[in-house]
Amino acid sequence: MNADPVQEIPGGDAFPSITDLGATGPAQQELHRRAWTATRSRFGDSVFVRGVVEISNHCRENCHYCGMRRENRDLKRYRGRLDSLLELLVHRRPGSITDLNLQAGEDPVAVREIAIPLIQTLRRETPLGISVCLGTLSKDLSAELLEAGATTYIIKFESSQEALYRSFEAPGTLAERLSHIRWLAGNGWNVSSGFISGLPGQGIEGLLGDIQAALDLPLIGCSVSPFVPGESTPLRDASSGGFDPTLNAMALLRILRPDWVIPAVSALNIVGADLGYRGGLRAGANLCTINLTPTEMRGDYLLYKRDRFIMDEDRVLSAIAQEGLTVSRKSLAAFLAAQTQDHS
Ligand code: SF4
Repeated sequence: MNADPVQEIPGGDAFPSITDLGATGPAQQELHRRAWTATRSRFGDSVFVRGVVEISNHCRENCHYCGMRRENRDLKRYRGRLDSLLELLVHRRPGSITDLNLQAGEDPVAVREIAIPLIQTLRRETPLGISVCLGTLSKDLSAELLEAGATTYIIKFESSQEALYRSFEAPGTLAERLSHIRWLAGNGWNVSSGFISGLPGQGIEGLLGDIQAALDLPLIGCSVSPFVPGESTPLRDASSGGFDPTLNAMALLRILRPDWVIPAVSALNIVGADLGYRGGLRAGANLCTINLTPTEMRGDYLLYKRDRFIMDEDRVLSAIAQEGLTVSRKSLAAFLAAQTQDHS
């Protein structure tokens, strides 16, 4: 199913290359134009729109790039209330969303007490497709989520460089993370992954390696998130990842995998002042996310900083319209189910 990630292109250079990743000016415009064309050829003008609810900020992991790491003792921890989340998602969700992503720190308690019953009810009472982003869980708990009705697991490998992965205390070992991604994909899940662009010490070669690593995995999609130094993390004084390399990495993924689901991430608004999120749509993204986390919990979901740039429905719909795109009426889950059927 995976395309060969390294292609020989006329002219003899390997693609993708460090030159492609560092493209600026007309070369970058051409790269993004190719990504845009590849996206439109496969998906037309429509973009998937999902909601996300951050159900818990408890986390047993300690990633240096994240404010929710277990050693951040200053963070007020929360778990959402099942009844109020259900009321929101069954009766008051935006009409534009076709799918929902449930996200949390690595918190098995929230998976059992909130995610699984929430998914069971949502599958009964709504047509929403459901994805989860809940960390590395036991195989039994993963199977329970699938049984409840979630179909896509989002699990980022963050960095393909073993030494960086270890030094930033990312979950387990890199080998275990990659192996878990493969296990999920072999056990009924659509798996989407992701990596961080501009992690301290990564280098442009490292970013190229991350693209290669993503292409080697059995994925249905992949995100590229610019590094943002979190205020309550050991990396608080580091520089942010660059906007251009992040967009270029997205564009390269899109050109190499026209079939993938590639999200525009809200952190693009932090590192890409004027264009921000819309730059992601121009560079091949075909998935937008509306943040539905109740306001009283949102500030404590501390990926980076407290003054998060929240993508609400108005901002997402406006970005889509400004780029001349439309909202897909077909859910991402239905699209992926049809894709699986075509390949079987
Ligand atoms: S990135 Fe995820 S696993 Fe790592 S500390 Fe943050 S919430 Fe936990």
